[in-house]
Amino acid sequence: MAKTGILFIVPTPIGNLEDITLRALKVLAEVDLIAAEDTRHSQKLLQHYDIKTRLISLHDHNESQRAVQLIAKLNMGESIALISDAGTPLISDPGYGLVSQCRESNLEVVPLPGACAAITALSGSGLATDKFYFKGFLPVKKLAKTQALSALLRETATTVFYESPRRIIETVQMIIECLGKDKRIVIAREISKTFETFHSDTADKTLQWLNADSNQLKGEIVLMIDGYKSDGQELPEQAISLLKRLMEELPLKKAAAITAEQFELKKNALYQLGLSFDD
Ligand code: SAM
Repeated sequence: MAKTGILFIVPTPIGNLEDITLRALKVLAEVDLIAAEDTRHSQKLLQHYDIKTRLISLHDHNESQRAVQLIAKLNMGESIALISDAGTPLISDPGYGLVSQCRESNLEVVPLPGACAAITALSGSGLATDKFYFKGFLPVKKLAKTQALSALLRETATTVFYESPRRIIETVQMIIECLGKDKRIVIAREISKTFETFHSDTADKTLQWLNADSNQLKGEIVLMIDGYKSDGQELPEQAISLLKRLMEELPLKKAAAITAEQFELKKNALYQLGLSFDD
């Protein structure tokens, strides 16, 4: 049987054209075809690196038909690189349909490590990185956005969003409403570009900063929200119900320890609470 081609997932720079790996450049130069979100946009990157490989479009509006064509080419032994306008394909970018169908068809998929705005922002944010959620773009509609933000009230992990500079003021206002004015947030803007800015402060001070400088409303933004930190005084509802559930099967000491770890709370506070359940 003839050998099938490989689909390479190739991250491209998120600003600075030098943020592309040697391997990515080699793959882009050697594949038979590059599937790009916007061929005109990606042509500039290819020209910069003198790469002559043919480009074909794959975007949100043609992905299902294009996937069928690309899978046929892979089956015929052609290799293809998938790129998006910037960063890692599939991360808030097209490509999921193609990759999932390749996997279902047992076609080889080789993802390359590389630039991603969410990870780069997080690594420079100063917020905790041991646990984080990437939630893509926040919903645009107010009710859905309120629900998405309110759900973070007791979220102990750092949350990372992509956000439009046109909506950032409204979003920070809503963070104040849903999570309180003292919630620490970090805005990472124009990463790897001339006006790269990292701003870390409470939500209310960040709102003042944004309102005072319209330059901060330009370019591209990653918004990060600090995880919930317990002061050990109040215990979140979810922690109390987990403790109760665990106590049905485990000794109090163990149940308190597990709950404490899960919610980053003080073991002793939970232990004392557990004792009070018997009263
Ligand atoms: N796939 C890309 C990645 O790996 O980062 C993300 C694509 S998504 C359509 C574009 C969003 O990523 C922008 O709206 C912005 O939130 C974020 N972004 C991309 N480049 C950025 C940069 N240089 N600085 C800050 N945020 C950036």
